[in-house]
Amino acid sequence: MNRGASISKLQSESFDLLIIGGGITGAGIALDATTRGLKTALVEKKDFAYGTSSRSTKLIHGGLRYLKQLEFGLVKEVGSERAVVHKLAPHLVIPEKMLLPLYEKRGLGSTLTSIGLKLYDWLAGVKPEDHRKMLTRKQTLKQEPLLNPQDVKGGAIYAEYRTDDARLTIEIIKAASSHGATVANYCEATDFIYSEDKISGVKVSDRVTGESFVVRSKVIVNAAGPWVDSLREKDKSKTEKHLHLTKGVHIVVPHSKLPVAQSIYFDVGDGRMIFAIPRGRITYIGTTDTNYSGHIDEVRTEKNDAEYLINAVNLTFTNINIELKDIESSWAGLRPLIHEEGKAASELSRKDEIFESPSGLISIAGGKLTGYRKMAERVVDLVVKRNFDEHDLKSCLTGSILLASSNFKNYDEVKSYRQTIYEKLKSYHLQHDADKLVSNFGKQCDQIISYLEKFPGLDHAVSLAEAELKFCLEKEMVITTSDFFVRRIGSLYFDLPLLKEIMLPCLQLMAAHFQWTDIKLAEEQKEMERLVAEAYQF
Ligand SMILES: Cc1cc2nc3c(=O)[nH]c(=O)nc-3n(C[C@H](O)[C@H](O)[C@H](O)COP(=O)(O)OP(=O)(O)OC[C@H]3O[C@@H](n4cnc5c(N)ncnc54)[C@H](O)[C@@H]3O)c2cc1C
Repeated sequence: MNRGASISKLQSESFDLLIIGGGITGAGIALDATTRGLKTALVEKKDFAYGTSSRSTKLIHGGLRYLKQLEFGLVKEVGSERAVVHKLAPHLVIPEKMLLPLYEKRGLGSTLTSIGLKLYDWLAGVKPEDHRKMLTRKQTLKQEPLLNPQDVKGGAIYAEYRTDDARLTIEIIKAASSHGATVANYCEATDFIYSEDKISGVKVSDRVTGESFVVRSKVIVNAAGPWVDSLREKDKSKTEKHLHLTKGVHIVVPHSKLPVAQSIYFDVGDGRMIFAIPRGRITYIGTTDTNYSGHIDEVRTEKNDAEYLINAVNLTFTNINIELKDIESSWAGLRPLIHEEGKAASELSRKDEIFESPSGLISIAGGKLTGYRKMAERVVDLVVKRNFDEHDLKSCLTGSILLASSNFKNYDEVKSYRQTIYEKLKSYHLQHDADKLVSNFGKQCDQIISYLEKFPGLDHAVSLAEAELKFCLEKEMVITTSDFFVRRIGSLYFDLPLLKEIMLPCLQLMAAHFQWTDIKLAEEQKEMERLVAEAYQF
């Protein structure tokens, strides 16, 4: 994960496979390809996970609602993948029971829900101890006393997993890099290079130095998420099968404003369902699903998005009255779905699809965070079939490549490691950060804690942030301050008060690390202040 070394390699060597896009899709393809034996490179125009892969609901889920759309194949695949991804990073993909309240006048009845959830468990091969449990009205209200007793007629509990999408993406990128892939962020693919009508390389602009160079590769995969069609247009291969972008927004409120006891998935009344997910000191709520035709790089939460989510919460929970001013943060992302004539945003299939162009460009779009491994497997299978002799290569290994240097055998080991970290952090008065630190970094916590000595100070939270930042600068290719605050530790979304406390010392540490001028430092600070203002200003 040394950006300078990666850029030299990109310029001087030629590759079997070059992937454009460092979201979960590109990251998954890079890890799969490099571990099969292909000489692999990946370029990302901003930071890894800058696109949709840091703006999802952050669930590793089977997509219960897709059963209503009769998408059995999709539910079976992503549902089964949950347990696999949990096994690969049990500290980061954490079991989470989901409460599904049932209502008198909206949503499916209890018989249909019970059958649906049973089917969901069966398709996904859920372990018997985690099978869905139907609840009476009394049990549901006991489980979540905030629900309206006038309205609720019962409920169900079923198994899902929660994660941090950006951290998952970055850990996959790191795994790809440690298995030999050459990866670089802030490198935008601006043009394709052709030899006899076949794509043979990509012109790349280094967004840090402003320089351009060419990367040569036998095969190019376009995994640019919402930007997939922009690249297909450059290749003149966009067909009537094209992307349909839909926007999804999440808002964040202090947990005290919506103190749900656990994650909950509830009917909104307009046929849609949304999640309320507690996470440390906050609860986040989402998502919306609306057609999007604005600028792809400028997607943001609008007032009407926030109001939709607030109304849904206030209608569902008795004695809760969230207002716009309670919103502490928010994020907005775009689903890169495949257009289907006549279908509304929330009816569009979440299935992934691969497009092959006459020039040899392979593009992939659609899909879910949860299904990244299977999507990658299909793409790499195709890359191999069209261009290489499969006998020279290994088969797909990603089901057993552990992420984040994790050698946790199971979730119980994560819990006991968390206890060890809790004890270690006591001497720094930081024990209450153990949970967050282990979820974000797994076994890499040991290295971060070893750095704490280097940052003695009266403010322990600042010392910890500096230790995390040092680790991320060394191991995770952090280039800008937002890389760190948004996609490495998530404080822009989940802990704005902390972000405000640690921002200046972290900026100074970065300035010293990169030898920034005062002007560059001021620009970085201004950009962070802009992001903070955008996240909660309505
Ligand atoms: C609101 C919302 C909620 C969701 N919730 C869930 C969920 O809970 N669970 C789940 O499983 N799925 C969920 N999804 C779906 C999931 O997040 C997406 O399917 C997935 O993140 C898409 O990843 P991607 O890598 O294809 O795209 P992206 O993450 O957008 O990655 C594409 C990358 O390509 C880069 N790029 C673009 N152009 C270029 C270029 N020219 N050169 C170099 N790089 C370029 C971009 O900067 C970007 O980082 C959700 C989606 C949304 C919008």
